[in-house]
Amino acid sequence: MAHTSRGGHENEVWDLAEAEMAIAFVREQLNHALAYRVKYNADKHNVALAFIRYQGGASAVLAAYSNDSAIAESDRLNLGLVPDLSSYLPQSNRFGCGGMAQFHTEPKLLNYLCADSTIRKLAIHQHEPQDLTYRSIIKHQRECAAQQADFLRRPLEEIAAVTLVTEINCCKTCTSYSISRFRARYPNTPIHLIELGKHPGKGLNPKFTRVTIERIKRT
Ligand SMILES: [Zn+2]
Repeated sequence: MAHTSRGGHENEVWDLAEAEMAIAFVREQLNHALAYRVKYNADKHNVALAFIRYQGGASAVLAAYSNDSAIAESDRLNLGLVPDLSSYLPQSNRFGCGGMAQFHTEPKLLNYLCADSTIRKLAIHQHEPQDLTYRSIIKHQRECAAQQADFLRRPLEEIAAVTLVTEINCCKTCTSYSISRFRARYPNTPIHLIELGKHPGKGLNPKFTRVTIERIKRT
């Protein structure tokens, strides 16, 4: 096993302040990108991140939103949100329940992390928009998505630990069909969970203990 400059910390849970800052930042960007949809409440759907730490100290971060179908492809790519790969994976190889919770953020993140790059790239759309400017923008975004798909290594290839941070606490279904399944499949790759207790139905925002979020009122 590689020795790293981080000493023995590479298996540990990700720094909480960093995790809270990162998820608050992604949420702000996402809500900003969707603000043009006046009747849509982006906050009703979950944002989650996966922090991946490799042996040797390198790291990567993935982000997912639980309601991708509300987002234009260009916005999703611009926000760096992983696509849902479940339809490209055989049932036996998939995280998630196959039902309503299939589109939750936890299976989405783990399916993307564990799929090989060929599968990741299947989810990159091919159709060409009519508008020439839009066509060149989305071409570039798709190239970046393909690069990310190739760049990100998989658990069997030197991942030391994964930390999922999720605004809404992980539901029972995702705990069984995603988290427990990951632990069973990759027993040498610890997966940690940071749950922030958001509850849109009760009007509860994520409980941040290390950072303070002040929302700027938009007029
Ligand atoms: Zn869930």
